[in-house]
Amino acid sequence: MQAQASPEGQPVYPATAERGESHGAETARTVRSTPIAGTAEPLAATRRVGAHTSIAGGLAEALDLARRLRCTTLQIFSASPRMWTDGRQKIDPAQAAEFRERRRALELDPVVIHANYLINLAAPDRRLRELSIRGFRGELERAIALAADFLVVHPGSRRDGPVDEAIERIADSLRQAAAGLELGRLRILPEITAGQGSVVGSRVEELRAILDACPELNLGVCLDTAHLLAAGYEIRTEAGLDSTLAEIDRSLGLDLVRVVHVNDSKAPFGSHVDRHEHLGRGHIGLEALRRFVNDPRLAGRAFILETPIDRPGDDWRNVRTLWRLAGIEWARPAGKGDGLRPRKRSQAKQTARPAVKSGGKRRARKTAAKRTSRLKRKR
Ligand SMILES: [Zn+2]
Ligand SMILES: [Zn+2]
Repeated sequence: MQAQASPEGQPVYPATAERGESHGAETARTVRSTPIAGTAEPLAATRRVGAHTSIAGGLAEALDLARRLRCTTLQIFSASPRMWTDGRQKIDPAQAAEFRERRRALELDPVVIHANYLINLAAPDRRLRELSIRGFRGELERAIALAADFLVVHPGSRRDGPVDEAIERIADSLRQAAAGLELGRLRILPEITAGQGSVVGSRVEELRAILDACPELNLGVCLDTAHLLAAGYEIRTEAGLDSTLAEIDRSLGLDLVRVVHVNDSKAPFGSHVDRHEHLGRGHIGLEALRRFVNDPRLAGRAFILETPIDRPGDDWRNVRTLWRLAGIEWARPAGKGDGLRPRKRSQAKQTARPAVKSGGKRRARKTAAKRTSRLKRKR
């Protein structure tokens, strides 16, 4: 599908343009007319650039953090991504209201939630699948409470079973998880995968089959530049990107692509290994990423980083680079909270837990102000 454009030729976020409800209309107007604080650049207000942002300091604080990083959209986990919540981890209504309110005030749009990594909607094992369905129902309930626009989920792993049966299980799991829930504006987006092991969804045809197996859920899809490269889609050259997008359009429809994860790849082309890298330091490179994020066929999509935090300031540098690729230059944000704290590998599991549950002496020593200013990417 050809990308939509406003009369001024600026990209318009397609979900808001299509949604047609009062909220969508409001958002589209806001997005077009309001420049981001600190710049008079009108284009910046129409580009949707974001990063996966830590909720370690709290859900609403993640929004502040994204804004300090000059994001116009963001992705978060709504609970620990590596712990079973068994569908019981609800969000306190007051906390959800605060999140929705602040998100409106900061004009962050869309809000994307990434589902827990343990969820395997394709699991042949009945117990794991039941846990996954309950877990995903919890994801849906929290996403609805937060008025999120998109919930990104990995299709799952088929283990030794055939792909077509796994796809049936995925669709069935999604249906069961969503049964009786009013999704409203929320749209579920299965994400393309690198195709590691027996993971489903590294070919767009497989994503298409998932969508076709549960049409009533009105699914979209999420692309990931690192996953595409590792899955064997040649996105490094102009001709390769052209044929990749043409193929996605043919078998899926580019209008279904709502979110794009922008990551460079530590793993080479076709390796089926999922390893994200800082923009410009991996096998994709800046020129290819520039072509990708500026392709008119993807205009208006939310481009969201899931790059590592190895050194202080990595988040800010990657967000700045992504804006540069989109043709916009930012000054460094003032004050704290610009992702200055690296995530230590050994702390990955600990930092993956929500702040309320991951106490401990080190955290206890921090002041509240420091805590909210800290960013640990949780992936
Ligand atoms: Zn993902
Ligand atoms: Zn991703």
